[in-house]
Amino acid sequence: MHIVDITAPLDGKGPYWPGSSGYALHADSHVGYGDSVTNSTLRMDVHAGTHVDAPAHHLSGGVTVEALALENMIGPVEVVEIPPDAPAITAELAEAALQGARPERVIFKTRNSSVWELDQRYFDPSFVGLTFDGASWLAGIGLRLVGVDYLSVQRFGDSDDTHKVLYRAGAVVLEGLNLSGTRPGNYRMVCLPMLLIGAEAAPARVILIQDEEDR
Ligand SMILES: [Zn+2]
Repeated sequence: MHIVDITAPLDGKGPYWPGSSGYALHADSHVGYGDSVTNSTLRMDVHAGTHVDAPAHHLSGGVTVEALALENMIGPVEVVEIPPDAPAITAELAEAALQGARPERVIFKTRNSSVWELDQRYFDPSFVGLTFDGASWLAGIGLRLVGVDYLSVQRFGDSDDTHKVLYRAGAVVLEGLNLSGTRPGNYRMVCLPMLLIGAEAAPARVILIQDEEDR
């Protein structure tokens, strides 16, 4: 069994969405300074790093993260790659990338993933996201989950309808994946968001599993 961890590092280097409170881990006490224990406080935007969005993120009355079915986040997934020069994931590109396959879960690898390999990371407003048409097409094929390798499925400055059409189709929106070391292909995925009761999103650890015979 081969495990690929596609979780972005939470190391305080971002990138973060403009206006985000980001991420900070503060040691309230530390054995290195003579305290008997090291004890830290975490303060973060729940949309920093790898996370799932719940419908409550954009829809008044939408469910919060504890209501998302784990069944949507665990199971077969297809990782597809979008050409590096593509500025967005359109319906046409999504359909071409899937080559007629209709997986339950799909993750798009784009040029965005190279950001996670940088030591200095800045928010890039021209990141590759789904167009509304692309999201609508994916909603139409009945996906349980859509994953992307930047902080939002929706392009910077686009309407929230891109998120909403996926929520309304029952698809979990998984954002902030680090696919820099991942090849396109079929995997089994395990995505476990933190059980943050009443939150509109939650950080998640996400792994892809490939059995030896499939490698
Ligand atoms: Zn989000």
